[in-house]
Amino acid sequence: MLFSHPEFDNHEHLSFFCDAETGLKAIVAIHNTSRGPALGGCRMFPYANDEEAVRDVLRLSKGMTYKSALANLDLGGGKSVIIGDPRQQKSQALLEAMGRHLEGLGGQYIAAEDSGTSVPDLKIMGHHTRHVAGVAYRTGFDGQPSTGDPSPVTAYGTFIGLKAAVRHKFGSHDLTGLKVAIQGVGNVGFRLARHLKEAGAELWVSDIHEDNLQRAIEELGARAANAGDILSLPVDVVAPCAMGAVLNDRSIPGIKAGIVAGAANNLLDRPEHDALLKQRNILYAPDFAINAGGIIDVFYERTGGSPDTIRAHVDTIGDTLAEIFTRSDRTGLPTGEIANELAEERFKKHTTGASLAPERLSRTG
Ligand code: NAD
Repeated sequence: MLFSHPEFDNHEHLSFFCDAETGLKAIVAIHNTSRGPALGGCRMFPYANDEEAVRDVLRLSKGMTYKSALANLDLGGGKSVIIGDPRQQKSQALLEAMGRHLEGLGGQYIAAEDSGTSVPDLKIMGHHTRHVAGVAYRTGFDGQPSTGDPSPVTAYGTFIGLKAAVRHKFGSHDLTGLKVAIQGVGNVGFRLARHLKEAGAELWVSDIHEDNLQRAIEELGARAANAGDILSLPVDVVAPCAMGAVLNDRSIPGIKAGIVAGAANNLLDRPEHDALLKQRNILYAPDFAINAGGIIDVFYERTGGSPDTIRAHVDTIGDTLAEIFTRSDRTGLPTGEIANELAEERFKKHTTGASLAPERLSRTG
């Protein structure tokens, strides 16, 4: 049942952890460690059944292998899930039990925050393990104090990727007057909007939270759009920065923009929507390529990296996307498929085991 699971895809490791005293039921999946120890979020969610949890952890863990490899990081892919409602079942004792389990894996998997867990939760796990990430106070890549929140770096990386798409599609380095519609101006979307504003772009925004919408209007002079219309506005670029599966049978026929470049994860509702965008001559910047700034930031938190080093690495998101776009033109294959191919090239050629020993990536003390 597990080895033949449709999402199994040669996972290296899958472990199930149960702690009766605290009610912890967790699964850790490590997809591939050929580039380095697996890093990925620890999600807490009230899965309807075990099968749903297994499916989610396998799918997400594989996704992390592809994201880190495409970003040229010495990291593998992994993920963990805690089965339970974070509002009702999360306790200090449960998080500590999770920390002990992670420590037992010896650093082959490093946990970061995800939906249902927070930086303080990871810090509690960190009482019992060195193998948690995104928890250190330090100077961020922009010289500002950072609490470990990767959103500023994700937003910067998305901006770099969006510029690479504009260069490829419109042959221009200048964003002055570029019309961009941003769906969701939360942690990442608002910061992306600010980069674009500074570069001279004109902005349209939508958000289901009125205060976030108002902030973008007041601070950045953005124009408000209806939540239902944002992806079909007559603009140059649409940037979905809210939730996944928004590129689907309903939305794609209505897109008028030449480019889709946004930070939200799992933007394609189904794999075939990649080809549908290509058929419509819409340049799609694959989500896991353009939103890799966060994982790059977390990597350097652990290995130590100056703000300049982080920025230089995030800038390579533009080069990776340029390569994806050029290959897509040359082969006629959609950009998402090319991104998968390129990621596989980058993790499959590392066959000699972890290129960075887990200890080097683990917090000491
Ligand atoms: P966030 O919760 O801070 O922001 C999301 C915003 O979208 C919120 O303001 C929310 O009100 C709005 N929203 C939700 N539904 C909407 C809808 N239907 N229409 C318009 N707006 C809507 O989250 P975030 O950290 O900014 O992340 C945004 C996306 O980027 C998520 O998909 C996340 O998984 C992905 N992502 C984030 C990071 C990161 O570093 N934060 C890294 C990689 C990927």
